[in-house]
Amino acid sequence: MKRSKIALFLLIIFLVAGIYAVYKSLNSKSETTEESVVELVETPVFDADSSFNFVKKQVDFGPRVPGSAAHKACRDWFVQQLKSYGWAVEIQEFKETSYAGKSLTGYNIIAQFQPEMAKRILLSAHWDARPVADKDTVRTNEPIDGASDGASGPGVLLEVARAISKSANKPKIGVDIILFDLEDLGSTEDVTGNSWALGSQYWSKNIKPAGYRPYYGILLDMVGAKGATFPLEGSSMQYAPGIVRSVWNAAADLGYSNYFIQEPGAGITDDHTAVNEIAKIQMIDIVDLKNGNDVFPSYHHTHRDNLEIIDKQTLKAVGQTLLQVLYRE
Ligand SMILES: [Zn+2]
Repeated sequence: MKRSKIALFLLIIFLVAGIYAVYKSLNSKSETTEESVVELVETPVFDADSSFNFVKKQVDFGPRVPGSAAHKACRDWFVQQLKSYGWAVEIQEFKETSYAGKSLTGYNIIAQFQPEMAKRILLSAHWDARPVADKDTVRTNEPIDGASDGASGPGVLLEVARAISKSANKPKIGVDIILFDLEDLGSTEDVTGNSWALGSQYWSKNIKPAGYRPYYGILLDMVGAKGATFPLEGSSMQYAPGIVRSVWNAAADLGYSNYFIQEPGAGITDDHTAVNEIAKIQMIDIVDLKNGNDVFPSYHHTHRDNLEIIDKQTLKAVGQTLLQVLYRE
């Protein structure tokens, strides 16, 4: 009796161990198959600490509101930084009138790397900060820090520029960065969308360098906040679905699917609107959007959009994905 119990016990152990072994081998096979599909190319490492410092530096100037001293100081700093990485830099100065009827001078900052190369990718972001906190409940008439909505995009792009420049491993394409000005002066009353993104509207009607035709463009907006999500922005999916897919796939291959979520997102007016509609250059938008009545994140156009919400992991996910995309070309 005792012996047969032991035998039964052993039999069960063998069976369980056998089933586990089969399960494990099947599982590891499927893992191997998945891994073999992913082919990451060698790229420079995106340094999230360096990127964070670029965001902080912009915020430390004070709100980069057009017409302010902080705005001019930040513009000059961008030029100096990009030149220090060996990029050719030009400023496109222009005058526009805000929805409030105010005449403003804007500065689009245009930087080129490997300008001799014919095939080029354009990376963009706006660099101005909103002069009002119209979605806040306090100090609504005061400008916002714009840490995510303003500083994060240039903060990622400066680090991409720095990483490419200092690495011996160069992309096989030319890379351009345009930091658009006067993006965030729009009125919430404005249903046409024309009072937003004035810098990209001006550039799209006055393309600089003349005759410039990049292969495609990628816009960053609000790419720094903790818990950011980048769904498949609606108008990007209309203008350039194939580019959206390849960028989101690169993010997934790097393990960043928790940021680059493969779900349809709202379509918004942003700097990519004029670039697609007027310049007829395909440009997609990587932008922090949510589901709900307000598609924008809770810090949007409030004083909560400050350095405290900036997360290095978000900056890393975006910057490393951009490098993977550039080096796959
Ligand atoms: Zn904004």
